[in-house]
Amino acid sequence: CGIFAYVNHQTPKTLDEILKTLLSGLSRLELRGCDSAGVAFDLYDDDGDCAIATAKCPGKMLILKSSGKVEELKSQLQNIDVDFEDEYSQHIGIAHTRWATHGPVSTINSHPHTSGSKNEFVVIHNGVISNCDTLRKYLVSKGYSFESDTDTECIPLLLHYIWKQTEEKEEVTLVNLVEKVMTQLEGTFAIVVKSAVFPTQLVAARRGSPLLLGVKSSSSATLDHIPVYNQQMKSGIIFLEDGDLASIVDGSLMLQRVGEDERREFADFSEVE
Ligand code: GLU
Repeated sequence: CGIFAYVNHQTPKTLDEILKTLLSGLSRLELRGCDSAGVAFDLYDDDGDCAIATAKCPGKMLILKSSGKVEELKSQLQNIDVDFEDEYSQHIGIAHTRWATHGPVSTINSHPHTSGSKNEFVVIHNGVISNCDTLRKYLVSKGYSFESDTDTECIPLLLHYIWKQTEEKEEVTLVNLVEKVMTQLEGTFAIVVKSAVFPTQLVAARRGSPLLLGVKSSSSATLDHIPVYNQQMKSGIIFLEDGDLASIVDGSLMLQRVGEDERREFADFSEVE
């Protein structure tokens, strides 16, 4: 099981390239066990307009999932009605290979899981939320209903609930909400959250499960030879520690490290994996 995300900021890529990156990320993770796989991604053109038929993608993102190996997901993706050769200047994509712990292997139980039909909050998760029964009961008492049998689904629903409760919605960012939700989660997790409410933001967080970021600046050609993040090159791998939160907002990456008051900002990147 594993999670993988790929974000481009003003770096034109074709859908073919984007999907290759997402799927090769998944194929590498497949070795850790995979009974189902799924993706959620958006595509924006130069004017910042959504470049996929919005009727088919609520929240301006496409979500596809299937039980089976990554190959099965790949064949589903070949049938989508989007131009694979056109370049898209901006996109956020998230991808998951599942190794079921809660709920049988099925398309519904595959990730990403969402807060509802509008995809306000979309989550991929690796690990186990051990207090999911308590969270489930609480959310049901607040009027939420669950589609899947997974422990994961309580994360997008909890995000939705906390967001609904927020009075000053304009003031809040996705990372604020994820931070609040994390205080309610017990167990182990690496998560990535994408959102239709915050279309230009992405948040990654971990506790107990490993997670790392690969950052590439426009001036560096490849990440392959840069093992750890290099300030000068503005490229490299960042290992997230337990409790760390990473967020991307309009193309700047912010790292909120446990035990550090200051947030570190990594501007000027073009790609993050
Ligand atoms: N506990 C989650 C599930 O059963 C995630 C499992 C995983 O790490 O793939 O869906």
